[in-house]
Amino acid sequence: MTLVPAFRQVDVVPEGIPLGGKAHLRIVPAKYPARTVGTVLSLVVIFAILNSVFSNPRWGWDVFAEWFFAEPVLAGLGRTLLLTALGATFGFLLGTGLALARVSGSPLLASLSWGYVWLLRSIPLIVLLLILNNLGYLYETITLGVPFTDISFFSYQTTQLLTPFAAAVIGLTLNQAAFCSEIIRGGILSVDQGQLEAAAALGLPKSRQATRIVLPQAMRAILPTGFNEIIGLAKGTSMVYILALPELFYTIQIIYRRNLEVIPLLMVATVWYLVILSVLSFIQHHIERHYSKGALRNPPPSLLTAALNRFSRPRRAATAAQAAPRSAASGAQRASSASLAALVAAGGEVSIEGVSKSFGALKVLDGISLHIPAGSVTVILGQSGSGKSTLLRAINHLERVDDGFIAIDGELIGYRREGDTLYELKEREILQRRVDVGMVFQNFNLFPHLTALENVIEAPISVRGRTRDEAVAEAHELLARVGLRDKAEAYPRQLSGGQQQRVAIARALAMKPKVLLFDEPTSALDPELVGEVLAVIKELARSGTTLVIVTHEIGFAREVADQVVFMEQGRILEVGTPEQVFNASQHHRTREFLAKVL
Ligand code: ADP
Ligand code: MG
Repeated sequence: MTLVPAFRQVDVVPEGIPLGGKAHLRIVPAKYPARTVGTVLSLVVIFAILNSVFSNPRWGWDVFAEWFFAEPVLAGLGRTLLLTALGATFGFLLGTGLALARVSGSPLLASLSWGYVWLLRSIPLIVLLLILNNLGYLYETITLGVPFTDISFFSYQTTQLLTPFAAAVIGLTLNQAAFCSEIIRGGILSVDQGQLEAAAALGLPKSRQATRIVLPQAMRAILPTGFNEIIGLAKGTSMVYILALPELFYTIQIIYRRNLEVIPLLMVATVWYLVILSVLSFIQHHIERHYSKGALRNPPPSLLTAALNRFSRPRRAATAAQAAPRSAASGAQRASSASLAALVAAGGEVSIEGVSKSFGALKVLDGISLHIPAGSVTVILGQSGSGKSTLLRAINHLERVDDGFIAIDGELIGYRREGDTLYELKEREILQRRVDVGMVFQNFNLFPHLTALENVIEAPISVRGRTRDEAVAEAHELLARVGLRDKAEAYPRQLSGGQQQRVAIARALAMKPKVLLFDEPTSALDPELVGEVLAVIKELARSGTTLVIVTHEIGFAREVADQVVFMEQGRILEVGTPEQVFNASQHHRTREFLAKVL
């Protein structure tokens, strides 16, 4: 599946093609004569251009050579690089802050950020630089102290503090931040919503969600435009000439006005800009590679490896070594030794009391009451849209309920109870309580930029405060128990759906939840992969953890469920043992539903 060598041996031969007694056929790669002609033509044109450039004495290459490493030019170059580095660094830091403010839940922060971007994108850089340069006229001194009192810690002349260089750095930073903020926000918006849900369900703190889950994935969208912006900045620094700051281009202008060798000196500037651009492109390539971890099933080889491969025939796909080895049937390697029971926490009891929830006019949950005993397995059935997912999400407070409450071992997840009043808890406290409830999603929602192992250890380390060694040892054990002993280093995209879902189960189990929620865990899987996931859940069902499972797998429900719940239009129509619900259902709607899915 990964190897595409130029010549390969084919073992499988379609029926009907006579082999002539040979077991293997040779494959000859397709030939593209037009491409060859195009390449030759391009080379001729390039040669003609180079020839004219180097044979025409008016280009003045001797003057070029004289000035290329001249001291004032290098000083100007240094200033350009410094301004670019400082402007880009501070601009991106400020821009990240602005973007996070913009997507934060706070309307105040979001509008402040919006206002900043609106203002700074409107003001031309040159105007901004001039205003900063004339700040000394507006404010003669800059004082740090307590506002509206006489207390001051220091006071300086504005012109003394705000040198042209400082004005240039501040101006470039302020301008850059406005554009970077939008680029970063675009990156953040490109991250799948499921990633945030999964991070929240694991109880990861907000800051950790941002730095570990969202920004690394956003980087893939941010980097190409971000580097465009930096390259633009490197050339845009020439704008600071109005502050009489001799950066590269301004220096060049000064020189050619004196010696009138315009073209050679412009060439000096051009070649230096080419060098800067090449270095930046090289850096960009490597940073992009770093952040593309797990984004592709078979990551492309690095430039060096690619070059080496090109010249060593027969070609070997370099990716073969990087892609995790694919295993044979997963069931075969499932650890049969100790059961999962040893690794999971004791189950908790869930009480759902009179819970209602509406989205606008639509009542999605309508006075639901249900008791789920500790260590039991509850299967929830019902048509699409009947409110099953909403109920599960309410249990771990991913969804707020409008009325009623849900308690786990007597503790409310989203609220503090005092008498008859429920006080909603802060996000941070909810995240802490949520760790008692694990969740497995229909679409797995594994973090694609982290390996299977990293997915599993993330929350135990950052939420439960385990040491890395402990977490890794336990994660290996869990992965082995779900039959993925040799997949620890694979990225989610290198795994089959069934394998991904089993990693997701291991990830939820690593937090030792009292209750584990499954929302249609096998619905996104091909039929032949359903069994391997159900097998893991069956094993869990006997382990003592409380399980609540939304599924359409009736056979599975019959086998493992202690109680079966049938929902319709936000209400529970029927609760009972599998025997009662499947064989002697009380409600005709249940019978109709079962007739459809069985
Ligand atoms: P199920 O999981 O049983 O298929 P859900 O709990 O996902 O059903 O949804 C129940 C109903 O609530 C559906 O009609 C769905 O369209 C609606 N719904 C779910 N989430 C939202 C939301 N965030 N906003 C508006 N409607 C929603
Ligand atoms: Mg659903």
